[in-house]
Amino acid sequence: MGLTNTGQPELACWEFAGLLLTYWCNARCAFCYVFGGPDRGGDMPMERAVKLWRGLDRHAAANGKTMRVHLAGGEPFGDWPRLLAILQKAREAGLTPPDNIETNAFWATDDELTRARLRVLDGLGLRMLVVSADVFHQQFVPFERVRRCVETARTVLGPGRVRVRWWDFYNAPLDLTRAGEAERRQAFDPALRRHQERLTGRAALRLPHFLSRYPAAQFRGETCAKAILGSRHVHIDGHGNIFPGVCSGIILGNAVHATVQEVWQDVAQHWQDNPVVAALVCGGSYELLRRAQAHGFQESPGGYANKCHLCACVRQFLFERHIWPEVIGPAECYADQAEQRAADASTGV
Ligand code: SF4
Repeated sequence: MGLTNTGQPELACWEFAGLLLTYWCNARCAFCYVFGGPDRGGDMPMERAVKLWRGLDRHAAANGKTMRVHLAGGEPFGDWPRLLAILQKAREAGLTPPDNIETNAFWATDDELTRARLRVLDGLGLRMLVVSADVFHQQFVPFERVRRCVETARTVLGPGRVRVRWWDFYNAPLDLTRAGEAERRQAFDPALRRHQERLTGRAALRLPHFLSRYPAAQFRGETCAKAILGSRHVHIDGHGNIFPGVCSGIILGNAVHATVQEVWQDVAQHWQDNPVVAALVCGGSYELLRRAQAHGFQESPGGYANKCHLCACVRQFLFERHIWPEVIGPAECYADQAEQRAADASTGV
């Protein structure tokens, strides 16, 4: 990553952005990088989505780049009329075409409906449909819907415009909607070995049950300068919060009352004033732990699976105590009491 004239890490230009249209989801996957679920909201109004999209385009253009915007959640198909309105307005406004939309295909209940929606998306310039297929989603979404969505999309959009996450699971699927805990555990274990999942959000609460853990000192020196300042990728949620890359719940700034470019300039000049970002950039999650200890954080004797697991645990502690609330949030990126109780009572599955 680049350095400024004074030798400080330099903030990269943002070129890839995910608009998190909602934290609502029909599912409540163990590997979710936020805490999406049927009881979560955080919907992004259509006007805000278009304003953010325009702001992202302008930010990239100001730096001689082209922005690539994808739509995610939660589950962006949870409110089809709003998704459609956002895409239509973005097109009318001449914004960059949507790079991709991520979905778990829960809505693909019928051939005709699936084909009709995909044709509309094709007409609105969608480059790629990304469909989730894995042991976590298939606890909640019948696999037949995934297959219908993928095969119809391959016909309507063409095979090159459909990505499945993950193809190996799609080609040898399991339907876990009726599976018991033992069967799920049996499926989770090898899946986690094949595809490393990011341990933020619910994943940090549920998946470490399956992984080796180490004392926090193991992660000393693993700084996050690249993940936070060097990342060309951001996510923006319905509240306007901008998160670096996939580090959900770490707020770089808010783009409701400022433009994306203004937020970027503010982060570039003042990231050292953000106590969470400063700790993580300088010394990674171990440094964040050290600073949280001054507020009473105690290291878990059970250890941590990796630096992001440690980071998520420390931030959960800080979030619950309203410490640095302007940069640790929103609630949809952290466990509520019901999730905590469920996690305490379970073995991750
Ligand atoms: S430790 Fe925290 S800031 Fe660093 S990469 Fe992981 S989630 Fe992001």
